Amino acid sequence: MQTNFLPEQLEDTHVAESEKILRKCVHCGFCTATCPTYVTLGNELDSPRGRIYLIKDMLENDRPADKEIVTHIDRCLSCLACMTTCPSGVNYMHLVDHARSHIEKTYHRPWMDRLIRTMLAKTLPYPMRFRAALRLAKLGKPFAAMFRKSERLRPLAAMLDLAPPALPKARNEPIRRDGPRRGRVVILKGCAQPVLNPGIDEATASLLGRLGIDIVAAPGEGCCGALVHHLGREDESLAQARRNVDVWSRLIDQTGLDAIIISASGCGTTIKDYGYMLRLDPAYAAKAATVSALAKDITEYLATLDLPEPAQRPGLSVAYHSACSMQHGQKITRQPKELLTRAGFVVKEPREGHLCCGSAGTYNILQPEISARLRDRKVKNIAATGADLLATGNIGCMTQIADRAGMPVVHTVELLNWAYGGREPDAVLRLDKTAQVEAHDLPGWTCPENVESTN
Ligand code: SF4
Ligand code: SF4
Repeated sequence: MQTNFLPEQLEDTHVAESEKILRKCVHCGFCTATCPTYVTLGNELDSPRGRIYLIKDMLENDRPADKEIVTHIDRCLSCLACMTTCPSGVNYMHLVDHARSHIEKTYHRPWMDRLIRTMLAKTLPYPMRFRAALRLAKLGKPFAAMFRKSERLRPLAAMLDLAPPALPKARNEPIRRDGPRRGRVVILKGCAQPVLNPGIDEATASLLGRLGIDIVAAPGEGCCGALVHHLGREDESLAQARRNVDVWSRLIDQTGLDAIIISASGCGTTIKDYGYMLRLDPAYAAKAATVSALAKDITEYLATLDLPEPAQRPGLSVAYHSACSMQHGQKITRQPKELLTRAGFVVKEPREGHLCCGSAGTYNILQPEISARLRDRKVKNIAATGADLLATGNIGCMTQIADRAGMPVVHTVELLNWAYGGREPDAVLRLDKTAQVEAHDLPGWTCPENVESTN
């Protein structure tokens, strides 16, 4: 694509990077076929190519963002399916990140939008605040129907709908290293995941411990910054990235680390991009690049280990939902399915696996209508597999799909931990108990004992 930036515009490093990306696009439009918003809405301006033109026009003319571009960029899920499809290697992720930051600096959103976005940015990345917000959401649920009637308040209704009725407690699964040490890692705790499902981190730690991996505590680490990054709040996301880089760099210097293990693929995509995000900061560029190189999804790391034979082969069929951040953001496609198969599960792949489920960070709150259409399309394809369970590697997708999948939804590592001698995932326990109730017509199974009410 031909661009017409002035030399003085290209002195801005961000503009210069975006110009390089724009020049790679050859307008072929292959990306439109796999873009969930184009597939759903059928509008060229809601396709990657259409958005690229809008961004080019805004940046080239050095204009503040206007309502039209904000509408179409806000509708982008940052699912990155377009990057998987593009034959020219257009880095749409960095281009749309720049556009979002430009929008944040130059566009004055209506006050309710600003309020909701600020509320999300100040709550979700902080586990204590998030937990408190979920408890409050339970009280607010009766108002969801009223909020849904107003376009401006619909995100509040979506927030209330997504809040789970109860929060699970920690399972207290034993975590200790067995046998000689084969590695030393930290496990990213993150922000939303330990609140919504502490069993994922426990399964990760328990499995790694039994495989001979030392787990090093990382006090001071926090949210990876992805949530605010996708809201265009660049300074906040860089601050969160720097804090994590500081914590992990200290550990790298003190004890050495073989990997930074991440079990939420949305976080993994962002941490693997720290090197780029902090490239212009001389105090952090090298440290951030080292951190990015050590960042590994749990399945990516497990696939490098010489795994023993599974302790049991549960024999269940598992529909595997590959999160966009896993398949498009990190290009991890093979490992989760191979690990599940090796562990004795029968893996089924839903149709249209490349399409987003509509979760996408805070997208299901900020764009509830498009998100719901994508979710419904996804769960239809999942149900058609006829599998016993759904496995995925991202807490956002789990929350988005959980209520409607028609089958228990688990994290991939929970199944692997179980197959290799760890505890049976709660969702599978519920499946077993439900089956028992059906078989023997017993009354009254309601809720496993380790579920805490949010009352
Ligand atoms: S990131 Fe996803 S939603 Fe956005 S333009 Fe690319 S394919 Fe479409
Ligand atoms: S597939 Fe790549 S080169 Fe073709 S229009 Fe899309 S972004 Fe541009």
